[in-house]
Amino acid sequence: MDLIVARNREDLVKARAGGEVALVPTMGALHEGHRSLMRLARARADQVVVSIFVNPLQFGPNEDFSRYPRTFDADLEICRAEGVDVVFHPAAEDIYRPERQVSVSSGEMGTIVEGASRPGHFDGVLTVVLKLFNLVQPHVAVFGQKDAQQLALIRRMVADLDVPVEIVGAPTVREPDGLALSSRNRYLSASDRQGALALSRALRAGAAEAAPSRIRAAAQAVLDAAQPELAVDYLVLVDPATFTEVSESYAGPAILAVAAKAGNTRLIDNVTLTLNRARGGLSSES
Ligand code: AMP
Repeated sequence: MDLIVARNREDLVKARAGGEVALVPTMGALHEGHRSLMRLARARADQVVVSIFVNPLQFGPNEDFSRYPRTFDADLEICRAEGVDVVFHPAAEDIYRPERQVSVSSGEMGTIVEGASRPGHFDGVLTVVLKLFNLVQPHVAVFGQKDAQQLALIRRMVADLDVPVEIVGAPTVREPDGLALSSRNRYLSASDRQGALALSRALRAGAAEAAPSRIRAAAQAVLDAAQPELAVDYLVLVDPATFTEVSESYAGPAILAVAAKAGNTRLIDNVTLTLNRARGGLSSES
């Protein structure tokens, strides 16, 4: 079956087939990271729906909504190559009616870390994701670990609002030199890109340590060495479910997350670590 392009809600209803449906929400400018999500979706469902929607609600007034890359024709080719069944590409006016009043609040968790730098961002993300769930009615939805706080908040929303969708997290796809793929990478000049490499380098340096203070210090040292090419926004070591900083005695999974600007382009990256109770003292470092 050829790919169906649904440009509004009515098209989407017509495109609905029976069986299990998997949704991959995106903002387009698709790359290998998005493709990996589509493959996970394909393996999980009879019908794969990819939404391509640059959501105005999740951009702040001084952010890059108007200059966010839009490459719809190339995106369709990628979706076709990945065996996607339906691309949902609505207009903003179709998603947000002028009379609308009600939206999703991401709570306290939406105001920390990435949310502290981007007020209102996660409310905008959760509102559009819940609307996409209601419109597409998927059984499964796939999101990248690259946006770890977004993934954690979507899991929170699904639990808190009893949304009947299974959430699948997908590993981050990287360039051979470590740079996490992002639609915004196309804005990077050659020298910005050099600076941007410090993000993944810092995460690797942190991941080689065992104790929270040393993890943070090792990552911070790499970021410090990359100034002034890189303007660091935050470096945190947090609980993956709550995004609150972990204590020195914490054991269990943790996320080391970083945000920084290379030139005018804001980039985020993270890595998941497992901190174990047995560490401590110099002897545990080998
Ligand atoms: P975006 O189009 O940037 O909103 O991203 C759409 C989805 O792709 C989100 O679930 C992202 O977390 C995911 N994604 C973005 N970059 C990557 C990557 N490098 N590897 C895996 N997933 C990614």
